[in-house]
Amino acid sequence: MQISVIGCGYLGAVHAACMAKLGHDVVGIDVDERKIAELSAAKAPFFEPGLEDLLQDVQSTGRLTFTTDMSAASGSDIHFICVGTPQKKGENGADMKYVDAAVTGLLPYLKSGDVVVGKSTVPVGTAARLAELVQGHQPDAHLAWNPEFLREGHAVNDTLSPDRFVYGVPGASEDHPAVMALDEVYSTPLGAGTARLVADYATAELVKAAANSFLATKISFINAMAEVCEAAGADVTVLADAIGMDDRIGRKFLNAGIGFGGGCLPKDIRAFMARAGELGADQALTFLREVDAINMRRRTRVVELTRELCEGSLMGKRIAVLGAAFKPESDDVRDSPALSVAAQLQLQGAVVTVTDPEALANAVKRFPELNYDDSVDSCVSKADAVLLLTEWKEYRELDPFVLGGQVSVPRILDGRNVLDPAKWRAAGWTYRGLGRP
Ligand code: NAD
Repeated sequence: MQISVIGCGYLGAVHAACMAKLGHDVVGIDVDERKIAELSAAKAPFFEPGLEDLLQDVQSTGRLTFTTDMSAASGSDIHFICVGTPQKKGENGADMKYVDAAVTGLLPYLKSGDVVVGKSTVPVGTAARLAELVQGHQPDAHLAWNPEFLREGHAVNDTLSPDRFVYGVPGASEDHPAVMALDEVYSTPLGAGTARLVADYATAELVKAAANSFLATKISFINAMAEVCEAAGADVTVLADAIGMDDRIGRKFLNAGIGFGGGCLPKDIRAFMARAGELGADQALTFLREVDAINMRRRTRVVELTRELCEGSLMGKRIAVLGAAFKPESDDVRDSPALSVAAQLQLQGAVVTVTDPEALANAVKRFPELNYDDSVDSCVSKADAVLLLTEWKEYRELDPFVLGGQVSVPRILDGRNVLDPAKWRAAGWTYRGLGRP
């Protein structure tokens, strides 16, 4: 099929490359010239495992091109909208200006029978509004909402073989032309057994908001348990293992730590609350305010624990922070809890040096006031405390004996509860986890 992908960020670049991998002819369109230049040279403009190999693989077939020129969409029949929906400045709601600009920019190039497919995460009601806009301009074009569930760090695999597809079309009609078009786009994963659900617009939009709210709630639940464990002298990691063995609960997403961040969960739960308020259903989501508050409290707690670890004062203390990305296997630092903690420590007088295998360039842009070092060895050198804040594999595997010889005082705060406390203590370290004695 002839496909355009509008917006080539973490979602769209991967989507474009994967659609070409599935055999379609794809043009990726973005307003960011630097991104388009890199993608055109088969270089990934951000770190995502497997993306660069995939770009090289498909670009040699000639099925994947990139441009900043929206008129290139006129050669396509299906147009995926993958632009950002960040939080509005000073408000909880989503900023829809990029989605609106992308769809408006596409209108002049729509032909009869074309299908516009929204993938961005949007407030419920957006699809119905945009369908009117599209059909006001081209009455024989269609609009569907097909929310995206990929995880950064696993985006290629999640796009090529997702858990499920959700198609939102008017009346949840199986016979809608957009359903047939999407079935053809995704024929390979559908043929391999991926489930697909057809829903109305509002339900499809709400599936994404509900899924992210559930995940955020699960993380904040276990972090709330960590707070109680700390007060009671209990161990939240054992508690999580034990409750996770009940398959109604499940062990995934029950790792207590410094909380969630990134370009999705925090802004998505806030946008969901804001939209529910507009719809008069705000009471239904007041619990998300607590989920958000528990999450933000983790960051303050880590700062307090670091102060305790440093015998009551942060002033002038050298703190080494391992990890800047909001999660491992990504260079995404949007709302990264690690960087937020690092910045708060620095504000309180500590001298903070941050390292990360992939995210330093992005981190420098967001927090230029912090010190950065691309080597763990020099980052931890002479440190008064080491904080593991993003659980990259290389940090989980650090040798406490080797590291102990490099720091000034062997104190570690394991912000993700991924280290073996007995091993670190045996090597002479003062170890603190979150929600663990
Ligand atoms: P991003 O900021 O990485 O990418 C957005 C891209 O859109 C940017 O490259 C930007 O230049 C481009 N853009 C903005 N306006 C444009 C326009 N008018 N025309 C063409 N391009 C334009 O954001 P992202 O992380 O890729 O997220 C995109 C959407 O997908 C958001 O709604 C997000 O919530 C959703 N989503 C993201 C993920 C994820 O893991 N990143 C997962 C699921 C859903």
